[in-house]
Amino acid sequence: MSIDARLRALPSAEILDQIRGVVGPKGVVAADAAVPYLTEWRRRWRGETPLIVVPASVEEVARIVAICASNGVAITPQGGNTGLVGGQIPFGSEVLLSMKRLNRIRDVSPLDNTLTVDAGVTLAEAQGAARDAKRLFPLSIGSEGSCQIGGVISTNAGGVNVLRYGNTRDLVLGLEAVLPSGEIWNGLKRLRKDNTGYDLKQLFIGGEGTLGVVTGAVLKLFPLPTEFVTVFAGVRDPSAAVTLLSLAQTATGGLASSFELLSRLCLDLVLAHIPSTRDPLDAPHPWYVLAEFSSGAAGLRETVETFLASALAKGLIEDAALAENQTQSKSFWRLRHSIAEAIAAEGAAAHHDVSVATADLPRFLMKADAAVAKLAPGARIPAFGHIGDGNVHYDVLPPKGAQRDALSPIEEAIEQRIYDVIAEFQGSISAEHGVGRQRKDDIAKRKSSVELSMMRAIKKALDPQGIMNPGKML
Ligand SMILES: Cc1cc2nc3c(=O)[nH]c(=O)nc-3n(C[C@H](O)[C@H](O)[C@H](O)COP(=O)(O)OP(=O)(O)OC[C@H]3O[C@@H](n4cnc5c(N)ncnc54)[C@H](O)[C@@H]3O)c2cc1C
Repeated sequence: MSIDARLRALPSAEILDQIRGVVGPKGVVAADAAVPYLTEWRRRWRGETPLIVVPASVEEVARIVAICASNGVAITPQGGNTGLVGGQIPFGSEVLLSMKRLNRIRDVSPLDNTLTVDAGVTLAEAQGAARDAKRLFPLSIGSEGSCQIGGVISTNAGGVNVLRYGNTRDLVLGLEAVLPSGEIWNGLKRLRKDNTGYDLKQLFIGGEGTLGVVTGAVLKLFPLPTEFVTVFAGVRDPSAAVTLLSLAQTATGGLASSFELLSRLCLDLVLAHIPSTRDPLDAPHPWYVLAEFSSGAAGLRETVETFLASALAKGLIEDAALAENQTQSKSFWRLRHSIAEAIAAEGAAAHHDVSVATADLPRFLMKADAAVAKLAPGARIPAFGHIGDGNVHYDVLPPKGAQRDALSPIEEAIEQRIYDVIAEFQGSISAEHGVGRQRKDDIAKRKSSVELSMMRAIKKALDPQGIMNPGKML
């Protein structure tokens, strides 16, 4: 039998029993409890699997992978199942390996500024463990209550603090993984400097479970800020927002940790669909910036007020509100975090998570808007995102009054046109959500042949049988 045919064939009852034997009854998910593991957040896909197992230790993971490797059985690793591109969903013969029982905080070292955790610890738990040690683990995303450290590592998650602290890739010092052979690689180093060859952990960061199973990680911690200032400002256009970001960084000495852009349409949708929300400013503005500044030293508010006065004098902002307290800050952030829900309530949107160089963002938005208007006159574009990272969630909604799913027949054409514009700016068609199943064909079309053959060579070297998460990414 060819490797492909063997991977697609359902594993025999005997092999499945061997795997069940590793985890015992506690580690096997019964068929009637499988739905939450096989349905993803946007309900775009419904998966299938012959077996869901939930190992409780690194050794159990290694034994399961070794059985799969000996028998050519495919595996899909799953963390919190919050991925948005179908990477964590098995589609037939793959054994689903849920990591949620690997949930120990292994070590916190305030002197090293490191936190060592199992892969199944949720992002919120990792943040909490850091906070208990009076440190900050700065990765912050909307799904942090459910997504796991192994998942954010495997997708190289971004979120709202990338501007100041970087992506997950910048926040991992060491890694432990079970390789597709079943061997355990212990790379749990707490080193800030290690130039002894290839940085192997980087292969697993953003690897989407295609090169092995991440079982543990050493994460970077930072001083815990004590002062926070949240600003909600109305701006003329994205170009003013980009210039405002540059001024903010210079005027505050780089204290902006988040700098989010949202269009008036986003705010309108939130105000229409999300209960108990209100516009923080008196009059409407075409675009808004939600910025957060943080510091461990006193005097932050005065610094931000001076920056805002200068921005107002330069005509970069039309109006602004400073949160007076934590409750008000939370209410500003709620507007931002509710955008996805408000868009979903309004209609069936086509979602695009794209990035360009920050300075190119205003021109990208203009060109993409014009391209979409040509294909779908009247379509509404509630664009929002992390402007400091050049990352915009460029969603497209049907024209007002049209049917919810009016754009479905031309969704693919719209997507390809947006990706063409992204290519003109040498941007990325997936800024933070990854490739998974959803964008596999797109990267095959849009990455250079040199890049694709390097990726395939790495995959072949580490996973010659292709058992790790087949049908995803490559
Ligand atoms: C409400 C909401 C808001 C979000 N906001 C953001 C955001 O701001 N920024 C952002 O980047 N993403 C965001 N996401 C996407 C998602 O939360 C991230 O992709 C997250 O990192 C996925 O983590 P997870 O544990 O849920 O992984 P899963 O969804 O379970 O898996 C994702 C991928 O990682 C692989 N994987 C998971 N665990 C392991 C492991 N231990 N070893 C090897 N492979 C593994 C899976 O096979 C799959 O390919 C959001 C999602 C939701 C639902």
